[in-house]
Amino acid sequence: MEKILFDSHTHINNEDYTEEERLELISEIQASPVRYAVDVGFDMPSSRMAAEHAAELEFCYAVVGVHPHDSKSMKEEDLLELKELAKQPKVVAIGEIGLDFHYDLSPRDDQRYWFRRQIRLANEIAMPIVVHSREADRETMDILLEEGAFSDERKALFTDGMPHVDIHCFSGSAEFAKEYLKLGAVLGVDGPLTYKNNKKTVSVVETVPLESILIETDAPYLTPVPFRGHRNKSPYGEYVARKGAEIKDISYEEVAAATLDNARKCCLIG
Ligand SMILES: [Zn+2]
Repeated sequence: MEKILFDSHTHINNEDYTEEERLELISEIQASPVRYAVDVGFDMPSSRMAAEHAAELEFCYAVVGVHPHDSKSMKEEDLLELKELAKQPKVVAIGEIGLDFHYDLSPRDDQRYWFRRQIRLANEIAMPIVVHSREADRETMDILLEEGAFSDERKALFTDGMPHVDIHCFSGSAEFAKEYLKLGAVLGVDGPLTYKNNKKTVSVVETVPLESILIETDAPYLTPVPFRGHRNKSPYGEYVARKGAEIKDISYEEVAAATLDNARKCCLIG
């Protein structure tokens, strides 16, 4: 099978899987057109697990960090551990970090504080950043700007001069997407692109050049049409890519190839 897809954001480390389900998922990914998948941490145990998966599985890379939902329990020593985990060769970014004012599972001040601290960590150790933002569009961008995520100093850390910031599951408007593009961010699109009434994300994909788009699943969440109601998995990223191809009026293979290349560049995978 031709391995042409890159799932830039998934959670093989999700705590709801039994060990058996996880192994089954891994075999399914290995037997699918998914060539690479990035297992994204959301708290300390899931970050450790993501790093283990990256070390053990050829297709797997890891992102380590603490999600805004869990920032209320984040500690200073966690930051040190993230720094250690990030040294592993297939750990490619700090994330998913950011603000979630939809669920507000952590007090907003804790979310802001640890978002800032983790951006600083990524700057300090020259790592890409994976951002989670929900109902906090403007403030997320403000904090990224204030902490130098798009600064010349940060861009100089990377040979391509890009800031290496991925706005995961971008849910803003096409206008807002343009602001991020100007800053050099890349935008992740997921299953919601395939949902019937999601005109907003369709117009984002229409507006944003293919070079700035990553295909993600956020599995086990955000299952695309036609599998809604089932648990999501990396191979379903194909349906997100197909929808992107339909919107851009190009072939699915073209979208798969370009987004694989984009993800490699964004995550500095040679
Ligand atoms: Zn996620």
